[in-house]
Amino acid sequence: MQGSPPTLEQIRRAPKVLLHDHLDGGLRPETVVELAVDHGYTGLPTTDPEQLARWFVADTPRRDLVRYLQGFAHTVAVMQTAEALERVAAECVEDLAADGVVYAEVRFAPELHTEKGLGLEEITEAVLEGFSEGMAAAAARDRPIVVRALLTAMRTAARSLEIAELAVRHRDDGVAGFDVAGAEAGYPPTLHLDAFQHVQRENFHATLHAGEAFGLPSIWEALQWCNAERLGHGVRIVDDITVDEDGQVTLGRLASYVRDRRVPLELCPTSNVHTGVVPSLADHPIGLLRGLLFRVTLNTDNRLMSGVTLSSEMKRCCETFGWGWDDLAWLSINAMKSAFYPFDDRLALINGVIKPGFAALAAESAFRVAVSPR
Ligand SMILES: [Zn+2]
Repeated sequence: MQGSPPTLEQIRRAPKVLLHDHLDGGLRPETVVELAVDHGYTGLPTTDPEQLARWFVADTPRRDLVRYLQGFAHTVAVMQTAEALERVAAECVEDLAADGVVYAEVRFAPELHTEKGLGLEEITEAVLEGFSEGMAAAAARDRPIVVRALLTAMRTAARSLEIAELAVRHRDDGVAGFDVAGAEAGYPPTLHLDAFQHVQRENFHATLHAGEAFGLPSIWEALQWCNAERLGHGVRIVDDITVDEDGQVTLGRLASYVRDRRVPLELCPTSNVHTGVVPSLADHPIGLLRGLLFRVTLNTDNRLMSGVTLSSEMKRCCETFGWGWDDLAWLSINAMKSAFYPFDDRLALINGVIKPGFAALAAESAFRVAVSPR
């Protein structure tokens, strides 16, 4: 039965999974202001939290990566002590749990938090401590959530092997994998081959920002040289897909490989609009890729800079692409299947939490249609 469209309130109650979310892109505006005062940081454009929230998402869609990245200068500036990192990490978990996320992998780049002398170990431990606190607080509110960290190396720097080793060392303390991020053009994934080989030799996990703005060569290197298990964005895989006038779809070799091998795509539609990768949500390839049954997952990227939550992102996609509960459940199961989390634990969440949660909400929507006057 076709139910009424999912409402935002219902989507917030759905058990969702988030694989691509940056810690320094998801702070609460009021926390940015408070930490700036504590740190003596005077660079904020305003100290009014509401105005600051608007500043971060101002002029959207601004289609300008440079302007988009300016926001990170402020968040990173106030994340330079262990206390600040712990607080931001704990609040991140609480905010995701309040949005109904049941499993998340949140990434951060330890090398960005050394300005006041913190070491990479201290930084990682502070964030993991914050995640633990956040999970305990969420469980106490009956909103259980599992959050794992991904350690990101900056592709424009030369510390990736060090960060990969750091990630592997903390694999039993809450770090689920390794990632590389930053400007794609001029910095191909293979610059960091030794880091990815270390991860692979240690039977550990890697995702990689590839195919956001730069395209197919980046995706090819990520998969065929660096053995990335997932693609951070990967949206430019559409450059290897042609749709002719009568709707006939042809996949190139790389696009076929990505689909055949079920390579998860960590798609972040609103972020792509804001950074100018696509002109509008309606133009975003997520609709096409979902239709072609690629292993699509839906993600927030930077909740503060894009003014989104996973629920709001799902709601906008429902409105734009005509999606319903089946699509949202499919995306959530895709994400859980693709998580860097033990197989039996993934199954337990899929069968014990995600499928029943979405089924109950779909039934609720069907009931609303059945009882509403024609
Ligand atoms: Zn990202």
